[in-house]
Amino acid sequence: MGAHRVRRATAAGLTVVVLALAALSTVGVMRTRRAADTVTRATALAAAYEHAHDAVAAEQLAEQHYRLDPGPDVRADHAEAAGTLRTALDDVSARGDAGDRALAQRVRALHDEYLAAMNSLFAAVDGADAALVARIDADFTDPVFDQLTTIVRTANTAHATEAADAVAELRHTESIVFTTTTLGFAVGLVLITGFALVAAGYQRRLLRQAAENERQALHDALTGLPNRILFAKRAEAALADPDAAVSVLMLDLDRFKEVNDTLGHQYGDELLRQVAARCTGALRPGGEGSPGDLVARLSGDEFAVLLPGTRTDEAADLAARLQQDLHRSFILGDVTVDVEASIGVAGAPGDGHSADALLRCADIAMYVAKEAKNGVAVYRPSMHTDDSSRLLLLGDLRRALEATDQLTLHYQPKVRLDDNGLSGVEALVRWKHPTRGAIPPAEFIPVAETTGLINRLTLYVLRLALTQVRDWQAAGLAIPVAVNLSPRCLLDAELVRHVTGLLDELAVPARLLRLEVTESAVMANPAQATATLTELHDLGIHLSIDDYGTGYSSMAYLKQLPVDELKVDRTFVQHMHIDQDDAILVRGAIELGHNLGMTVVAEGVEGTAHAAALLRLGCDIAQGYHYARPMPGGDIEQWLRTHTATSAMRDLAEA
Ligand code: C2E
Ligand code: CA
Ligand code: CA
Repeated sequence: MGAHRVRRATAAGLTVVVLALAALSTVGVMRTRRAADTVTRATALAAAYEHAHDAVAAEQLAEQHYRLDPGPDVRADHAEAAGTLRTALDDVSARGDAGDRALAQRVRALHDEYLAAMNSLFAAVDGADAALVARIDADFTDPVFDQLTTIVRTANTAHATEAADAVAELRHTESIVFTTTTLGFAVGLVLITGFALVAAGYQRRLLRQAAENERQALHDALTGLPNRILFAKRAEAALADPDAAVSVLMLDLDRFKEVNDTLGHQYGDELLRQVAARCTGALRPGGEGSPGDLVARLSGDEFAVLLPGTRTDEAADLAARLQQDLHRSFILGDVTVDVEASIGVAGAPGDGHSADALLRCADIAMYVAKEAKNGVAVYRPSMHTDDSSRLLLLGDLRRALEATDQLTLHYQPKVRLDDNGLSGVEALVRWKHPTRGAIPPAEFIPVAETTGLINRLTLYVLRLALTQVRDWQAAGLAIPVAVNLSPRCLLDAELVRHVTGLLDELAVPARLLRLEVTESAVMANPAQATATLTELHDLGIHLSIDDYGTGYSSMAYLKQLPVDELKVDRTFVQHMHIDQDDAILVRGAIELGHNLGMTVVAEGVEGTAHAAALLRLGCDIAQGYHYARPMPGGDIEQWLRTHTATSAMRDLAEA
């Protein structure tokens, strides 16, 4: 809030103080001037009255002198004293006000009377008439003299008091002006200091804000790590020397999206924060003059590490240690999560001279690392040429999983051979690439299977399929859906939890979900596959062996598996009418399946002849173009209506 307001208030306060000080000094000066005038005038008047008083006293003295020792000198002294008195009275008239002038006038009149009496007295002295002298003195000169003395002394005292009062007022005014001025200055000083403090604080805040803005522009808000911009800046700085060894690590988490999707963003965010902390912890601090390592978050679950002054072989060691660090479980509140991180290493000057070039190479190496499942790979130029299209495809698929409109599902009906009824549908993924158009699953699924991306794809498909089942349920249709699981998915420790989570979230009963796995998926790691499948089966999910006949299988394992459906691969079904071996395999598969208590499905049923042959062999269910091609979920209802109608007609026709 109000730094602004505080500044305005301080400025207003300062103005008020300055104005008050100015007014005060003006008033002070005026009062002082007036008091000083008064002092001057009153002092001069007091002096004039004093002179008058002295003159009167001198006249009296001359009079007494004359009575004892008459002579012209004494008369002259008396005349001089009388002259002095008149001069003093003129002085009073000149300096004084109307009252003084009236008073002077009155004294002159009295003095005239006195002088007249004196003349008589002088004459009496000259005549040596002592009795007359005494009478004149007692009757005239003494009383008039007393009157004169009293008048001028009183006036003198009055004016002396006036002068003293004015001096006192002068002092008082001076002390008031001094005190208030000092006070005013003190207040002004406090205000100015306050103003300066507020201004300094404001400036500090502005600087802090600017620094914070810059920090935000260069850092990732979630983890506080530098972002791509700062990474590029620091990388370019490190690459300024063309001979310098600078390495770059590109790090990607395999299971991040699963954590985000199944546990929620809060957990995903926390995971990223912890990953960021572990990355930072694995780095080397900078020394004197040499910049330290820098880890940046580039996007979602992608991190990059800049290692200035580091050769790629050293960088690979560091990457291996970092990868080990990230392999330890992460504790996110109440759940423990394991993630795999793959790290690609590239370095200047060998692999490029710009941050971009190095990041690209490190990215390619990172994909190779993912694929090799060995955690860390150092970039080699051959990676680029051998694998670039595949790596591009992986990058595109990763983006497709983040988009919402590229990956969809088609559903292919599975039909019971005995009554033509719908047994369920198989969900098959479709990818509409933004520039390349439709890419068949046979092209991208195997590529995705080489990396952790297949787990994300599987969850994506599961979510779409179960959402479709929920919608069908809402429309009054209970249609079981089958989803294909890649071998890698069976090794995913989180699979069961994710599937359970999705079933719960979408409120789909487990019996409406079927998972298809191939024999080879089971054989790759029989113990873990069996454990995972058992857990899934215990949830009430149905399981199928897919593409039966194409892989090696062991009866021993098949028997143990909690599987209730066997899908005979379409290559055998398609050729069973022309190839004796295929026909034998199909027959054998049907028998085996039934012996193990399984339902048997024939894939790739393209014609009536196949359907009829399969029915004769006791096959339970058929799937293939003969019944329907895979179609969008929304078309299934319409297909069901026409299919029921035609099969009913066929039933009628057969009857
Ligand atoms: P699959 O699991 O054996 O799926 C059946 C494939 O056979 C589908 O090919 C389907 O279109 C095709 N098909 C169905 N009936 C006929 C027929 O009568 N004649 C012929 N020639 N083909 C028929 P699609 O959709 O191209 O999928 C190919 C494979 O890709 C699938 O083989 C499956 O292994 C994989 N796939 C598809 N979707 C997914 C998925 O969501 N996840 C995983 N992990 N794999 C998937
Ligand atoms: Ca399948
Ligand atoms: Ca199949």
